[in-house]
Amino acid sequence: SSFASLPLSQSLLTNLASLRYEKMTEIQAQSLPLILKGEDVIAQGKTGSGKTAAFTLGILHHLKVKQFRIQSLVVCPTRELADQVASDIRTLARSIHNIKVMTLCGGTPLSPQAASLEHGAHIIVGTPGRLQDHLKRGSLSLQHLSVLVLDEADRMLEMGFQDEIDTIIEHSPAQRQTLLFSATYPDQIQKIAQRIMNAPKQITV
Ligand code: AMP
Repeated sequence: SSFASLPLSQSLLTNLASLRYEKMTEIQAQSLPLILKGEDVIAQGKTGSGKTAAFTLGILHHLKVKQFRIQSLVVCPTRELADQVASDIRTLARSIHNIKVMTLCGGTPLSPQAASLEHGAHIIVGTPGRLQDHLKRGSLSLQHLSVLVLDEADRMLEMGFQDEIDTIIEHSPAQRQTLLFSATYPDQIQKIAQRIMNAPKQITV
């Protein structure tokens, strides 16, 4: 089915058309109606399924660009994935003026990142350890967060990022939309979903 069947803004639809995104992928067709309604969603889908565009369109749909504060956070297992996701978000958001997407990953010094954060952003994409560092030192505030995305959640847990994810949850408002993407759905994911999500709808592609 086509993106035009969704309640997306005309500028997002025009941008999708210019990117030659004509039909929704399976994961998009199943998840986007729920995501756009503000529901919590657990989506099982691999790389290549179009999951990045699914959560990005959800983020952009709910974003208020005039409110220059952090409204969405995407947590990724690796720096490479975070860079890829940030780049995909910028592409899908190119019709929205003055939108600021910032990456926060390890491997670069902390204080220049903290200084950049002081200048503000709408969307943060980062890795668990570095996000935890910024939260603990107070250089990152999630008090205005409305959408939290855990991308490749199974991989993050395999890599031992449970504590870091807990810190992120503790710093996030209780009232938020949480989207969890995972290639597999082991017990550990089921448990964390029960703890951090609100009546999640589950989809599998
Ligand atoms: P992902 O699974 O998010 O890594 O996306 C895989 C690739 O599919 C990316 O290169 C996207 O740009 C592309 N893509 C995502 N959704 C669509 C779509 N609806 N139509 C065409 N290409 C898409």
